[in-house]
Amino acid sequence: MTAKTRVLVTGAGGFIGHHLVSYLKDLGYWVRGVDIKEPEYEATRADEFELLDLRRWGNCLQATRQIDEVYNLAANMGGIGFIEHNKALIMHDNVLINIHMLEAARLNGIERYLYTSSACIYPGYKQQQTDVTPLKEADAYPADPEDGYGWEKLFSERQCRHYTEDYGLETRVVRFHNIFGPLGTYDGGREKSPAAICRKVAVAADGGEIEVWGDGEQTRSYCYIDDCVEGIYRLMRSEWREPLNLGTDYLVSINELVDTVAEVAGKRIRKRYNLTAPQGVRGRNSDNTKLREVLGWEPRTTLAAGLAETYRWIRSEMAKQPDAYPLDGGVSAQSPAAHGRRPLHAARAEEFTAAD
Ligand code: NAD
Repeated sequence: MTAKTRVLVTGAGGFIGHHLVSYLKDLGYWVRGVDIKEPEYEATRADEFELLDLRRWGNCLQATRQIDEVYNLAANMGGIGFIEHNKALIMHDNVLINIHMLEAARLNGIERYLYTSSACIYPGYKQQQTDVTPLKEADAYPADPEDGYGWEKLFSERQCRHYTEDYGLETRVVRFHNIFGPLGTYDGGREKSPAAICRKVAVAADGGEIEVWGDGEQTRSYCYIDDCVEGIYRLMRSEWREPLNLGTDYLVSINELVDTVAEVAGKRIRKRYNLTAPQGVRGRNSDNTKLREVLGWEPRTTLAAGLAETYRWIRSEMAKQPDAYPLDGGVSAQSPAAHGRRPLHAARAEEFTAAD
């Protein structure tokens, strides 16, 4: 980087994009953020923030003008409930965004272009067991990705490769495995499992019950947002041109995820299983062999520490809306400290800071 490096972050009004803007600003970059919406929960630190619909070709040209490097995070997406019910919309919007952004990057002479793919590109036939073998990058083929969202991600990964091969555009492709943390969507239908569970646990009384999608035995690995933005940046700076996993290889069931959030919240929580709700694949984990080899680094925040931060933030946001979210079974909309009990998440957060 030079002092004059000008960076574009698309999706800068969203969860990861917003955090990435802050991370790049801390490193001294000049940053332009683009999105169809402003960040929901706090103001952006971008030097410029433009509201642009990147499905439109002219807007992609405008977004990439006088820019050196692009982090393309814009996508119409959400948790499993959203992506299973909006396949046509997701394919339509994201194909347009990614095809137009790559071509605009080429025409505007972008030096490096990072594309955010997903573990949803991995084939369903390798994810049928809860004790799943971690997925390595080469497992992507023969292809059988998540219907809709995953197919578009795989298609756009390939288009990045074609732009490198045919036009010499330096592309980087990262495959995220379930990123979570503060400032992420926690309601409205697009939220992912950690945020949804935090919200449900915050609302529940001590000893109360929450709904869990599926039988809770399905497994995943989760990566905290601070590790995510650091990993994105490290990949951008590397010379690695193939897709790379970015996640943890710490596999947990949804039941264990609920239990960890409950512990962080200091509540006993019972689970009511909704077997008709969307669940996605049965098991998914990240093989980090290549990540360690390429970056000499891997995510280090523990699930419990990350969930403690996330729960604390979601609960504090909900406490601002007592009519919509009567917390703790309606007993109180106060912060956990008001119960005269030192919340577990405070201890966890300290532990996390110390270990970091
Ligand atoms: P997010 O929904 O919070 O952010 C995406 C942003 O893109 C949103 O702010 C949205 O408004 C914006 N956007 C959508 N359509 C747009 C358009 N037409 N023009 C301009 N902006 C538009 O999601 P996120 O979790 O921050 O994800 C960022 C990227 O990472 C996405 O590409 C997503 O597919 C990918 N990803 C995320 C995860 C995860 O666990 N969060 C996992 C795998 C992949």
